[in-house]
Amino acid sequence: MNYPELGLREAVDLVRQGQLKAAEIVESYISHIESTDGKIRAFLTTTFDRALARAREIDGKKEKGRLAGAVVAVKDNIVTRGIRTTCGSRILENFVPPYDATVVERLEAEDAIIIGKTNLDEFAMGSSTENSAFFPTRNPWDPERVPGGSSGGSAAAVAALEAMAALGSDTGGSVRQPAAFCGIVGLKPTYGRVSRYGLVAFASSLDQIGPLTRSVEDCALITSVMAGFDARDSTCAEIPVPDYSADLREIPGRIKVGLLGETSLKGLHPEVAASYLRIQEMLAGLGLEIVHLDFPSWEVALPCYYIIAPSEASSNLARYDGVRYGLRIEAGELADMYVKTRTAGFGSEVKRRILLGTFALSSGYYDAYYVKASRARRAIAGELKAAFDRVDFILTPTTPEPAFRLGEKQDPLAMYLQDYFTVGASLAGIPGLSIPCGLTTDGLPLGLQILSPHFSEARLFKFAFLLENNIKFKNNMYGINNRGRRKNEN
Ligand code: GLN
Repeated sequence: MNYPELGLREAVDLVRQGQLKAAEIVESYISHIESTDGKIRAFLTTTFDRALARAREIDGKKEKGRLAGAVVAVKDNIVTRGIRTTCGSRILENFVPPYDATVVERLEAEDAIIIGKTNLDEFAMGSSTENSAFFPTRNPWDPERVPGGSSGGSAAAVAALEAMAALGSDTGGSVRQPAAFCGIVGLKPTYGRVSRYGLVAFASSLDQIGPLTRSVEDCALITSVMAGFDARDSTCAEIPVPDYSADLREIPGRIKVGLLGETSLKGLHPEVAASYLRIQEMLAGLGLEIVHLDFPSWEVALPCYYIIAPSEASSNLARYDGVRYGLRIEAGELADMYVKTRTAGFGSEVKRRILLGTFALSSGYYDAYYVKASRARRAIAGELKAAFDRVDFILTPTTPEPAFRLGEKQDPLAMYLQDYFTVGASLAGIPGLSIPCGLTTDGLPLGLQILSPHFSEARLFKFAFLLENNIKFKNNMYGINNRGRRKNEN
């Protein structure tokens, strides 16, 4: 048996029942990663020895956790005690954190096994992983194309069966967009659902950690373990966490679905638009009520995000000054040391964001940019809230186009346009889930984004499960379906 083909849920059940050893699974993953990752380059660091030791420990336990034997990869902007955490940046190239992020602690407490740290755009700024200071990751469906970003390493690892699931972070789409490009499931939870403690801050009012998985069920299970109150993150909500993976088959009541009107689909890649229309037919076939919605503020979401996110980033990234940790380039004067360290340590996209954010926050411009963007943010959140008085879910394409070629987007604005459909949920703080919804004629995966109201993840997973069962997407690189089972077994 080739264990990487086994889905997370199935593997965990077998390990918990004592029918399969976690150590055997891990050994099989190690050899698969060794033969595959030279081409994909999803990992910045692998933790094979540690993973094997952990697996043996778990095999010896009588009571095994809810994720026993789950092989998980972690984006390299989520801190791991004793394991280098680079954020894809030269400035943190040799940084070894002295503590674990809450999400890592929670996964390990349920006996998940961390197999390595995945590549990303530097400080999670980008949509292709080409902004990684080390190397770009490639899309397993077509190695000439990007896996998306910034959690591109996490998405590629899951799609190439190098992990059962991975953690990513999503500030404006960084879990959902790479999930769409790689044909997998990705959730940005409600802001405050999952602790940000130990996530290296990019834009604190938007950042959320979310899972990337092969199926909706795996996503629901891992979210149940990660989510919940944490006293170490003051924005983390004190709301109980149900087992999201229970009762997924239950249809969440009478469902009203909101769709974007045809004007919003103008300018989209024709195959993305066509796939969205096919979904619409599928919904009608399922007997769901469809409502066409207009979002006049949708257009300002992108510019609004690109004021707010860089503003917060310019402040968060001030801590990399060569004094406390990370890179230091020695110089006679303190101010010279700052300048030399930051000049050498940050890549060009990070510098661009720091400059943009510093400008937007500077006196004289603050009202014109930051305050105005904050007002627009409130208007966008208000429009979405009003829409949820009329519908239960809103469906959009996850991305305006399928995975593009490496090097294709040289203009930063062209790269920013990737986030057209995803930033709205980030600004409003609502959950957004991307599921694979089909392939282009060239065989590239496309994603469907499902939005729902704050803290409605339980219903969101049920609805996504229903759609997933009707879409029947297959990871045809490995001949398995989205549940991780072989095609003919279903
Ligand atoms: N692509 C967006 C950006 O560059 C989103 C990044 C993210 O969600 N971390 O800001």
